Amino acid sequence: MDFDLTPEQDQLRDAVRALGRRYGHSYFVAKAKAGEHTTELWEEAGRLGYLGVNIPTEYGGGGGGITELAIVCEELAAAGCPLLLLVVSPAIAATVIARHGTEEQRKRHLPGLADGSRKIVFAITEPDAGSNFHRLGTVARRDGDDWLLTGRKVYISGVDEAQHVLVVARTEDATTGKLKPALFLVPTDAPGLERSKLDMEILSPENQFLLYLDDVRLPADALVGESLDAGLPALFAGLNPERITVAAMGAGTGRYAIERASEYTATRTIWGGRTIGSHQGVAHPLAHAAVQVELARLMIHKAATLYDAGRDLEAGISGNMAKYAAGEAAALAVDTAVQALGGAGMTTEYGVATLLGAVRAGRIAPVSREMILNFVAQHVLGQDKSY
Ligand SMILES: Cc1cc2nc3c(=O)[nH]c(=O)nc-3n(C[C@H](O)[C@H](O)[C@H](O)COP(=O)(O)OP(=O)(O)OC[C@H]3O[C@@H](n4cnc5c(N)ncnc54)[C@H](O)[C@@H]3O)c2cc1C
Repeated sequence: MDFDLTPEQDQLRDAVRALGRRYGHSYFVAKAKAGEHTTELWEEAGRLGYLGVNIPTEYGGGGGGITELAIVCEELAAAGCPLLLLVVSPAIAATVIARHGTEEQRKRHLPGLADGSRKIVFAITEPDAGSNFHRLGTVARRDGDDWLLTGRKVYISGVDEAQHVLVVARTEDATTGKLKPALFLVPTDAPGLERSKLDMEILSPENQFLLYLDDVRLPADALVGESLDAGLPALFAGLNPERITVAAMGAGTGRYAIERASEYTATRTIWGGRTIGSHQGVAHPLAHAAVQVELARLMIHKAATLYDAGRDLEAGISGNMAKYAAGEAAALAVDTAVQALGGAGMTTEYGVATLLGAVRAGRIAPVSREMILNFVAQHVLGQDKSY
């Protein structure tokens, strides 16, 4: 068992940390409040190669794995810049295309994903299906060589910043007549694709959208992979990286909040000369949150290591557990930090309450805590499926 990062991973961590600190949480908050995106940070991270760390070198990436991408996600979040689109574009889209796309799709999309000039977002959630992906109602029909996509998607992040949406749809299997999943690369300006921005109570520079697909016509090569059989493995290929990187973002956010609060409680004195952090009623909840965050980090490390070793099934279990642990730990850490800061915790200046919405959402998306508990109960504990 090895808990150490390689020297290269250590260097990556230090370099991303330095980049994140140069921008910091006040930059992130200012962008979100102005309704703008964190374009400067994204572009600089792209130029420095951090957005493509997990993309194969022959397509302009760093040739690393999800361990490296998780480091990028965690360190930017620990600097107060939790970039949700890292979880979508490099983690999901780049993995799916690198592992299951055609050679033409890899050449067309991966170099831009690696340097950050291209963003591809991901659309699976639907209003009438929610957590039950078996009910997906977005359907792809053949029309000659083309495809026609019709359906609705909800809460889709970053559509206004992206060139393509990776849409999960269903197709009719020509031989069995059964519906099976297929992934399509849909240009965000495709005729028939409409979007409307959702009003969300999350302070974030990234937006969520409702998407309406009304007979969106796509060429044959919009289908990810060589054939319809690529659909299911391609979809699963994207889910483990998503869970692991979103967990890393949660762990980084937890670290950020605990650090802010600890600095404050170690210096604030209101009862004579003693700091408020000397009171165990203040310090213990912070220490407890720090333990939870560190435990989540261990599970993230395990899940990423298993994934990069090609052990997908075990990575699926660890990735779900890591996502659960990090989601809970991040929410606990931010809430505890707000409490430890008192009134300052609710100010914009101290930059902790600004994360309450994001960490709350982290217990719902991309997979809710309840659905992870269902998964663990069924696949680890051998319980009957209840739904
Ligand atoms: C900020 C944000 C960004 C997002 N970005 C994206 C994106 O980019 N792309 C995308 O495709 N989706 C995205 N989502 C959607 C997200 O993945 C879904 O919200 C999530 O999967 C839950 O689905 P739902 O909202 O329909 O809730 P529902 O499925 O309706 O669930 C509602 C509640 O019931 C619980 N529940 C449901 N079924 C069960 C069951 N069988 N057992 C126990 N409890 C159950 C759930 O855990 C949840 O608490 C985003 C969501 C948010 C909040």
